[in-house]
Amino acid sequence: MELSEIYSQNFFGAVSDFSPKISFEIFPPKGNDISKLYEELRKLKRFKPVLVSLTYGANGGANRFSNEDLKSIRDLEFNLMPHFTCVSALKDEIEKHIISIENLGIENILALRGDIPNYINPEELDFKHADELVEFIKEKTTLSIGVAGYPEGHIECDNIHKDIEYLKRKIDKGASAIFTQLFFDNEKFYHFTECVRKAGIQTPIIAGIMPVRNTVQIEKMTSMARITIPEKLKKMLVKFPDDTKKIGSEFSISQCLDLIDYGIDGLHFFTLNHSDQVSEILENIL
Ligand code: FAD
Repeated sequence: MELSEIYSQNFFGAVSDFSPKISFEIFPPKGNDISKLYEELRKLKRFKPVLVSLTYGANGGANRFSNEDLKSIRDLEFNLMPHFTCVSALKDEIEKHIISIENLGIENILALRGDIPNYINPEELDFKHADELVEFIKEKTTLSIGVAGYPEGHIECDNIHKDIEYLKRKIDKGASAIFTQLFFDNEKFYHFTECVRKAGIQTPIIAGIMPVRNTVQIEKMTSMARITIPEKLKKMLVKFPDDTKKIGSEFSISQCLDLIDYGIDGLHFFTLNHSDQVSEILENIL
């Protein structure tokens, strides 16, 4: 099912179904342990996700799902949205890639620029920003397109309004849904949503939720992407280092309940390929 169709109804979805729209992100497991990932996905199936998104390593190789993997995951009867970054390829390769996704019977794609590696001169890229990729995908395929949004602003942009102006270009060129960067401070998300709506963007905004399960990992991610960790959560993680997962789950439960109250369009869980913590959170919010 296409993004536009999935998110066309309001947050509570079909008339008979009062559950929020849930989706999951997975990444290619290290060491070819794909069967363990399938197992985790099967466990998450009972939450009836509207889609599963699959990350794409801008630097290639082991950080990408093969077409065979995509087929196998699709055959588990999930609606897929593979990610794609345009920094790592030239126009011809990009065209081949997006057509191969479409030929697999996949209907959606998350169109990203990706982080530009030091060894690449941005001026030499065929597509310098994700809006150009969106335009190209729209021209060459019938894929429904998701794009990234940043509730606290993208790291390279110091002005959130400018960032949203660029986000609008991605929408104007044909994207149907915005999937946000992870965040912990809902007020930042609400402010972002307000600014996006004021900028004239009516596209669904899907909130990126990352349950904390490893403090070092979360500190690294948040400092690299300039994401706020609320003081209370920070203090709890420091004070109870043996209870990280429990603290992370409790925080996500209350964060999601607040977002549901607000009436957001969907919750997108960065699962880190584990079903246990996300399941616990969903059992408490659905
Ligand atoms: P863009 O939309 O191009 O924005 C990048 C920067 O350029 C921003 O600062 C923006 O303000 C500015 N900008 C945008 N358009 C213009 C323009 N026309 N002119 C001038 N400036 C402009 N990375 C991966 O490698 N693999 C993944 O699978 C992956 N998945 C992600 C999933 C989500 C939900 C999110 C939020 C991010 C993901 N990323 C992934 C990270 C992403 O690739 C990086 O954040 C990257 O630096 C920016 O990509 P973008 O598509 O947002 O770029």
